[in-house]
Parts: sequence; C-alpha cells; structure tokens
Amino acid sequence: MQIDILTLFPAMFEGPLSESILKRAREKKLLEIALHDLRSFGLGQYHQIDDSPYGGGAGMVMRADAVVPAIESVEKKPHRIYFSPRGKRLTQERVEELSKKDHLLLLCGHYEGVDQRVIDGWIDEEISIGDYVLTGGELPAMVLIDALARQLPGVLGKDESAAEESFSAALDRKKEYPHYTRPEDFRGMKVPEVLLSGNHKEIEKWRKSQLH
Ligand code: SAH
Repeated sequence: MQIDILTLFPAMFEGPLSESILKRAREKKLLEIALHDLRSFGLGQYHQIDDSPYGGGAGMVMRADAVVPAIESVEKKPHRIYFSPRGKRLTQERVEELSKKDHLLLLCGHYEGVDQRVIDGWIDEEISIGDYVLTGGELPAMVLIDALARQLPGVLGKDESAAEESFSAALDRKKEYPHYTRPEDFRGMKVPEVLLSGNHKEIEKWRKSQLH
C-alpha cells in the first residue's frame, strides 16, 4: 500500500514510522510512505499557508490555493482522506475496508482546519479518530496508518495475527478476552483455572464468555 501524507510537520512522523512493526512493514515495502511538506506549497515570500477566516473570529484557516496544488502534486489517483473532528468516526470495519485500497492520500489539517472548498472539491472522505479536538491531523494520520498496517498481508508475524482481535469479525466485533502469561501466581493473584486445564473446548468457551 502506498500512502502520501500532506503535512506542515513531517518530522512528527519520524518516530512512529521508524520503529517496530511499521518499520518492518516499510522495509519489506508492504507499506510505502511519502511525506510532503505543505509549507513548500505556501504562497509568497513567507510560504504562507493559512489566513484569517471570512466572517471573522479567532484562528486561521488553511488556504485552498496552497493546499489544492499540494494535493494535485500527488500523482495517480489516491483515495483522499482529510482528518477532522467533523468527519465520520473511524472504526475497525472502516480500517479493514481502507486496507484494501492501493493508494491513500492523507491530508493533515492544522489551526482551524482547511477551507471548506478543499473538502468539497478534492477530498473523498473525512475521518475523525474520536470526539475530542487535537492540534493537528498528524496524530490521527499515524493512528490510521498503524491500524491499517496490521491489516496488510505479511505485516504481522504469525504470532501476531490480526484475525482474532477486539472489533474483528471473528470476535463478532466485540472486545477481546483478557490475556495471562507466567507466572501462574503473581503476588497471590492467580491465573483463571480453566486456562491451565489444557481443555481447549473449555478454554474456547471461557474466552467467548469474556467478550463484551
Ligand atoms: N476547528 C476544528 C478543529 C481544528 S483542530 C473544529 O472545531 O472541528 C486542527 C486539525 O487537527 C484539524 O484540521 C484536523 O486535521 C485535526 N484534528 C483535530 N482533532 C481531530 C480528530 N478528533 N480527528 C481527526 N482529526 C482531528
């Protein structure tokens, strides 16, 4: 999967994309990420991106004549996503659907967000990662990329399967059962007996009973 990210702060992505599973996915070319600095599409001597809102009020709005050329600079025809608290709340089902696309473009807003005409004319989907407000779309972009990467064939090792996780179809979209590992007795807190029984049928039944 190819992902093009348009952001004013490309450096924010360095850590999350360069560690652990995402690092491995990129090395294996299962995930190809290109960062584009929106500032380089800014207008005039100061590479201005934002301007004050028509109608007045606090905050700044990202200009269509800076952002649209940036979107158009990405070749081919990616599915274009803008992150916004006004968007549709991201779910595991949507992550699974999006993971089937070959090419995504992620537009990260900042300040008050982008001029509505950008969304109306150049964005396919507005996504929110929850009902709270962040300072920018960079963290939402990283959240989406992380969730997507787990769904791409070959990204997770065989010990890390994505098939039976919270919200997966295999668990009826419910939240997962609790996990335990050694020691059997930790400061008087015991592992549920059934998990030590070796009775796979009973274990399965118990795990099912723990979904919610
Ligand atoms: N004025 C906007 C908030 C802007 S926050 C409003 O009231 O709805 C600045 C940027 O952060 C947004 O443009 C968006 O890209 C990003 N952002 C903030 N909260 C977000 C959320 N919950 N989900 C997705 N993106 C978010």
